[in-house]
Amino acid sequence: MNLTKTIGIIGGGQLGQMMAISAIYMGHKVITLDPARDCPASRVSEMIVASYDDVAALGQLAERCDVLTYEFENVNADALDAVVKEGQLPQGTDLLRISQNRIFEKDFLAKKADVSVAPYKVVTSSLDLENLDLSKRYVLKTATGGYDGHGQVVITSQEDLAAASQLANSAECVLEEFVDFDLEISVIVSGNGKDVTVFPVQENSHRHNILSKTIVPARISEALAQKAQAMALRIAQELSLSGTLCVEMFATADDIIINEIAPRPHNSGHYSIEACDFSQFDTHILGILDQPLPPIKLHAPAVMLNVLGQHMEKAAQYVAENPSAHLHLYGKLEAKPNRKMGHVTVFAEEADKVREFGEGVDYES
Ligand code: AMP
Repeated sequence: MNLTKTIGIIGGGQLGQMMAISAIYMGHKVITLDPARDCPASRVSEMIVASYDDVAALGQLAERCDVLTYEFENVNADALDAVVKEGQLPQGTDLLRISQNRIFEKDFLAKKADVSVAPYKVVTSSLDLENLDLSKRYVLKTATGGYDGHGQVVITSQEDLAAASQLANSAECVLEEFVDFDLEISVIVSGNGKDVTVFPVQENSHRHNILSKTIVPARISEALAQKAQAMALRIAQELSLSGTLCVEMFATADDIIINEIAPRPHNSGHYSIEACDFSQFDTHILGILDQPLPPIKLHAPAVMLNVLGQHMEKAAQYVAENPSAHLHLYGKLEAKPNRKMGHVTVFAEEADKVREFGEGVDYES
């Protein structure tokens, strides 16, 4: 049996880099396609420098690799379909199309996977916002192209309707009811096309819409945690999932509502590198190679802190004072504000004692 494969990764950011590291210690060779020659994955893999929709370059990657994968969902699905051979992209392009469009995504979650989502409707122009019952609150989101809170308007009053109408007239949108959640959580699942394995429930806090801190296990009841994992497994099974997927959710006092899915390893799963017996990157590689997947064990409660461009000094100071903290830096050349430069994982029984790097700062530009 040939244990060594050549894996092609589309996208060479930190997710591509950490996928490549897992693949390399399992003995595989990695080639990454990214427009930036000095991207994080370039430190650990061979590169094809080209844009993500360059069909000729994607074809070259497909020619040279046994298996292809992607590190982010905005890859051009048509371009990939044009170049991949049968079975070469185990994640498939349907999953890309679902997660690229909030309308497809909501329809898939509510109607096919049969999990709870916030009540929603498709909005094609501001006319669809007339006669809105303003005793409720809403979030209007563009169907495509939005990320980290961009392309969203929260509607709580008549005054918010002007901005919402403008957004609705500029792009197709989804209008969701606002969920009064206690916590934002996420669950990582990995599949090999047949079987799936699930990670513990992660509790996430954001600053300015960027993930700041993840606490594992999430501080929710055992019953809600089981419900969250069961929903993630159901979604994975419905997709015949290959590789790793993150399901982002809201935990209310007594329920779990699914917000969105990301068909790849996720920032909220980085703690798994040290805190679990297999990381979300390991199971991604095992899954896309159709290998058996292990049950996941969490060694001990853990906290992950993101290191953004403005946090470099604080992170250095933190690890100097806490030698048991695991610092990861992705090797990005320029530390721009709000750019994800790395993360720190610490084992901590009392998560509240682990302060986020941005805590106490009103606004971090
Ligand atoms: P998203 O781009 O869908 O991940 O949304 C970005 C952030 O907006 C989420 O992490 C939540 O904090 C918030 N959000 C999104 N949708 C809702 C909703 N229906 N109700 C309440 N908050 C939401």
